[in-house]
Amino acid sequence: MAQLEHLLEKQDKIWICKTCGLTWKRKPKVKCQGIPAIRHDELPSCAIWDFNLYRNNLTKKREAKPIAYHHKRSYRHDYCYKLSDCKKRFEDIPDLILTKQEKDKLGYKTKNQLEKMHLQPKPNARKCGVYYWEKETGGGFAVFYHPNDTEFFAPDQYLTKTTLKKIYLLSEGWVKRLGEPDKMADNPHSYTHPIKLYSRKRVEKFLANNASEYSNWLDKRDTYLAIFEKNKDKIQQARDLVKNQQKMCLRCASSCALDSGLFCAIHPTGLERYQMPCKDFSERND
Ligand SMILES: [Zn+2]
Repeated sequence: MAQLEHLLEKQDKIWICKTCGLTWKRKPKVKCQGIPAIRHDELPSCAIWDFNLYRNNLTKKREAKPIAYHHKRSYRHDYCYKLSDCKKRFEDIPDLILTKQEKDKLGYKTKNQLEKMHLQPKPNARKCGVYYWEKETGGGFAVFYHPNDTEFFAPDQYLTKTTLKKIYLLSEGWVKRLGEPDKMADNPHSYTHPIKLYSRKRVEKFLANNASEYSNWLDKRDTYLAIFEKNKDKIQQARDLVKNQQKMCLRCASSCALDSGLFCAIHPTGLERYQMPCKDFSERND
């Protein structure tokens, strides 16, 4: 607000400002607001106090100037504006202002309440009313909907990489293609590596957008699995062969343990699989 000098006049040992109407016994040090100071109950008709704007779904126009104010000892005074200097704050907010109790009686629900029931307002749902809360508690409003005007929605979930691989059979490459995770969570096992979480909705949308590629990948994966399944015994035999050879080498007189691993004096470059089991094995004596 403008900081002006009071227009002072002395009447019966009292200083009075002809602009704001405030009075003092001694010349005031504070500046003048330049508009009349009034009591809350002296609000001019066709005007509104600023603290009542939001609960009437109003906001003052950019160029609006207060026509009077209520003087408070605290820093922030209350100002009043002409209604013609105000406009609707939200165009689509209903005019029906209800208390929480009235709203509950009518069975209306806020978006937050609906969400907990896995419901959301239909795209063209009618807004039944609105509840405003005081500035002291944050100031805001909530719109109510009738439960008949709502529809079920699947809540989102956040999945770890391991879950993605297990449920959607994604490879590391596919997870990379998903891009950055949607959320991070504290990792109880590591301070430096938070757990990456992916939105289930986003993952499914991504897979749907890449449906043909995804189904090709699943087919390919099935083929790999089928090949593995068919050759399981042979693969297991090969693994056993290597494992047994390692055991033999540990007991063999020709090998010695170095920092870089087991070193064999007879086969310094290592054994090929077809050479297993090694014919040069000789039991260590020590
Ligand atoms: Zn004044």
